[in-house]
Amino acid sequence: MKEIVRKIISISGRNPFLCYQCGLCSAVCPVVEYMDTPPHKVVKLIQLGGEELKRIKSIWYCISCMACVDRCPRNVGPGILFEAFRLLTLRRGIDKVDLGTLENIDKVPTIAVVALARKTTG
Ligand code: SF4
Ligand code: SF4
Repeated sequence: MKEIVRKIISISGRNPFLCYQCGLCSAVCPVVEYMDTPPHKVVKLIQLGGEELKRIKSIWYCISCMACVDRCPRNVGPGILFEAFRLLTLRRGIDKVDLGTLENIDKVPTIAVVALARKTTG
């Protein structure tokens, strides 16, 4: 198993290999239309070794609402896996979010702003 996958499993406490690609997580995700890769496909990339995760923007578009976690029939919950990957990235000093550059922040849903702020705290 690749190191990045092992770390994601260790931090999240979830097993991405239980995912059978039903797609329910993507169906309930409120921001899937803004993602470059839907949540169930990101889980597939984790199963395949996680090499592609660095180029996926979806993990940073996730607003941590955990709707996918509630609905996942296999207790995988992509949102938890994404949190783990973001934490690993932030620990390396890489921050993908700069709240100061957001335009029209007053028009952004509050939950999205709060989720963004959480992502900048490491
Ligand atoms: S809902 Fe769960 S089992 Fe279904 S695709 Fe998403 S992560 Fe996999
Ligand atoms: S936690 Fe993230 S991936 Fe899961 S439904 Fe919410 S926004 Fe989508």
